[in-house]
Amino acid sequence: MKTIIEPFRIKSVEPIHMTTREERREKLKAANYNLFALPSEDVIIDLLTDSGTGAMSSEQWAGIMRGDESYAGSPSFLRFEAAVKHLMPFEHVIPTHQGRAAEAILFSLLGGTGKNIPSNTHFDTTRGNIEAGGARAHDLVIEEGKDPTCLHPFKGNMNLQKLEEFLVEHGDSVPCVMITITNNAGGGQPVSLENIQAVSKIAALHGKPFIIDGCRFAENAFFIKQREDGQAERAIEDIVRDCFSCADGMTMSAKKDGFANIGGWLALNDPDMAELARAKLIQTEGFPTYGGLAGRDLEAIAQGLKEIVDDDYLRYRIRTNEYIIERLDQMGIPVVKPAGGHAVFIDARAWLKHIPPMEYPGQAVAAALYEIGGIRSCEIGTVMFGRQPDGSEVPAAMDLVRLAIPRRTYTQSHADYIVEAFEEVLSIKDSLTGYRIVKEPKLMRHFTCHFEPLK
Ligand SMILES: *Cc1c(COP(=O)(O)O)cnc(C)c1O
Repeated sequence: MKTIIEPFRIKSVEPIHMTTREERREKLKAANYNLFALPSEDVIIDLLTDSGTGAMSSEQWAGIMRGDESYAGSPSFLRFEAAVKHLMPFEHVIPTHQGRAAEAILFSLLGGTGKNIPSNTHFDTTRGNIEAGGARAHDLVIEEGKDPTCLHPFKGNMNLQKLEEFLVEHGDSVPCVMITITNNAGGGQPVSLENIQAVSKIAALHGKPFIIDGCRFAENAFFIKQREDGQAERAIEDIVRDCFSCADGMTMSAKKDGFANIGGWLALNDPDMAELARAKLIQTEGFPTYGGLAGRDLEAIAQGLKEIVDDDYLRYRIRTNEYIIERLDQMGIPVVKPAGGHAVFIDARAWLKHIPPMEYPGQAVAAALYEIGGIRSCEIGTVMFGRQPDGSEVPAAMDLVRLAIPRRTYTQSHADYIVEAFEEVLSIKDSLTGYRIVKEPKLMRHFTCHFEPLK
């Protein structure tokens, strides 16, 4: 069959609250044009994030009921730990309430003033946690990864030569080498198994622990299976295991490829580091057999990890993104190609050439898409990355708008509605104006800053 269907039936539904364009214009203004400030009930299709917004399966809900809430040694923890170790063979698995808590613990051990931490591209919370401790976060993605139209199959790959040079230049100030799979901030683009293994070798040669930010490990593995030589016949699980068995640790948000609404973990091989991490965990999250989670959450993750590596699910998921991208591309809207794992990315800088980067073309697209279709997306560009640690502001490498697709939540007709909303935005695009920021916090300003449209 040519039609790739949603490989599930719907057992429970959530109504969508419909609004008019006039209502949305008012709501946008009341939110100071920051889509993070909108009540979610005022959104028709919420593509702000794929984080924690997925639909759980009947088996996951069954697990929720099975959850054992014992303070210490809960069987739910043991099931969670076994499910993680089945895919990611690390010695120590430390549950946290979400990914950034794992990052905070990791960088409380490895970060600090004067430290330099390389990755392909650090995600915004990773960067925030590194910088909050006084260290610097460096992005060493390959050049192809910065070109939104380049059809390289693994645009999330690390530039290996740059990594070598970086490690020579920064020497002892580098506490670890990281890589993000898939590369969220760089367009949800995958990293090849070959590249992951090469980074692991380079890190080992320089005596540095290699840490994977594994939030979208299953999507990354599916791309490896589809695109990398010799991988097509392999089980997703086996590819996942290969990715993580060459690392010394990982951080994870279970809100992504854990198929859960909350949760995360830090995993490590080094027993001394794990002991320090657990001490910090007890201080900030909770006892090591629950971290920041309830037993029922650990059950949902344990079951989610079994479902996320399913070929049929991953094929449907990746195909949804490809479909939207193909349609937008046919209309002449610049999109990041090839399709990423969890999201569709619009190149707003290339689309709205009349709005310069410092007037936030991504914000202009996101605001228009909400007003016209009630669709909530997210700017990934100069608003998110423009403010520098020294207080200056520079254009980000790209001005993208991300339509993050929640897992198993929306259907094909929602995808068609999204495409139609873009047709409308296209018809008025030359009349869209830029924005300025009139209020912003010190760190991670995109979450709470206030905008005003420029005339
Ligand atoms: C979401 C995400 C994080 C942070 O995880 P949270 O659960 O949101 O705290 C870190 N890295 C990447 C790549 C992510 O996508």
